[in-house]
Amino acid sequence: MPKRPIALELGMATYLAKKKLLQRKERFPFTLMLEPLELCNLACTGCGRIQEYKDVFHKRLTVEECLRVADECGAPIVNIPGGEPLIHKQIDEIVHGIIDQGRFVYLCTNGILMNKAFDRIEPSKRFAFVVHIDGMESVHDHAVDRRGVFKKATAHMREAIARGYRVCTNTTIFRGTPAEEYVELFTYLRDMGVEGCITSPGYDYESVTHDREQFLARTEAQALYAEVHERCDGLDIPFYNNPLFHEFLQGKRDYRCSAWSMPTYTVEGWRSPCYLLADKHVGSIRELFEDTDWENYGTDRDPRCANCLMHCGYEATTILDAMSSPKDLLALARG
Ligand code: SF4
Ligand code: SF4
Repeated sequence: MPKRPIALELGMATYLAKKKLLQRKERFPFTLMLEPLELCNLACTGCGRIQEYKDVFHKRLTVEECLRVADECGAPIVNIPGGEPLIHKQIDEIVHGIIDQGRFVYLCTNGILMNKAFDRIEPSKRFAFVVHIDGMESVHDHAVDRRGVFKKATAHMREAIARGYRVCTNTTIFRGTPAEEYVELFTYLRDMGVEGCITSPGYDYESVTHDREQFLARTEAQALYAEVHERCDGLDIPFYNNPLFHEFLQGKRDYRCSAWSMPTYTVEGWRSPCYLLADKHVGSIRELFEDTDWENYGTDRDPRCANCLMHCGYEATTILDAMSSPKDLLALARG
C-alpha cells in the first residue's frame, strides 16, 4: 500500500514545532486552500461553491497571484480545489511554482480531465491528485448528477497510479447512503492502490437550495461514521485523516473549531471565517487572522456550525491538543 511521503510528515512536524513551540503562535495556517477558479465541468447536487460563485465563473487567479498567496500564507501544504482546477489553462505552472517554493500540492479534481494533466505535471513526492469519489458507480454518478463519471474518473486514477502519481480520494458522506456502500468503496479504492481516503460529511451549505435532505445532522453523521469504521475494522483501509479526527467523527471526542487552520483564497479574496462559510472576503491573510472574531464560530456558537464535522475546522485541533497529551501524540504517531 502506498504511504504518505516521509518528507511530508517531517516537513509538517518541523513546521508545527516551529510555529507552536518556538514562535508560540496561537493561530496559524496548517494548509492553504487555493481556488484558482470556481468554474466546474460538473454540477453536483451537494456543491455550495458553484452556487455561491456563479457570478464570477469567468474569473481566474493568475500564476503570479497563486504563488504570492502561497508565499503570504506560508503553509507547507497547498490544496488546490475549485471549481475544477484542471480547467485552468496554467494549472501546471501554478503547481510547479508552488512545488518550487518547497511546498506539497494536493490537486482536488473530479477526475474527468485528469488525463490531460499527465503530460503537463510529472509524478512527484510533492504532488498528489485528490479525486472526488462519493460512492460506487450508481451512487457516485447520482451525486455528481451525470452518468459515466465514475467509470471515467476511476480509469484515470488507475492510469495515474500506473504512471507513478500519488492518488488520494475525497468522499463526502450523504444521508440515505448505507454504511455498506462506503465499506465497498473504501475496499475498492484500497485495492486500486490509492495512498489515502479522505472523508467528510456533506456540509449543509445555505447556498444549496434544492435537495437539502441529503445533508446529515451531526448525530446522524457520527452514527454512520461509527458504523463505517466498525465494518472497516481489520480491512486495512488507508484512511488519510488522523485517528483522533476519526474518533471525533464517530462522536467519541469533542473539539473546538480551528477554522483558521485552513485559510481559503478564492477569486474574490480570502474567505472569512472558513472554507465553508464566507461572511466576507478580505484582501490579506493578516486581515483574515486579525479581523475575524474566531470565538464566534464553532458548534454551539453559530447555528451554521451546528452540524459541521469538517476537517477544515477540526483536524488541526486534534493535532494541537495532542501536543499536550503524550497518549494522543502516540496515537497520532501510530496513525
Ligand atoms: S466536482 Fe466539486 S466543484 Fe465541481 S460541482 Fe462537484 S463538488 Fe462542486
Ligand atoms: S464549525 Fe465548520 S462551518 Fe463553523 S467555522 Fe468551523 S469549520 Fe467553519
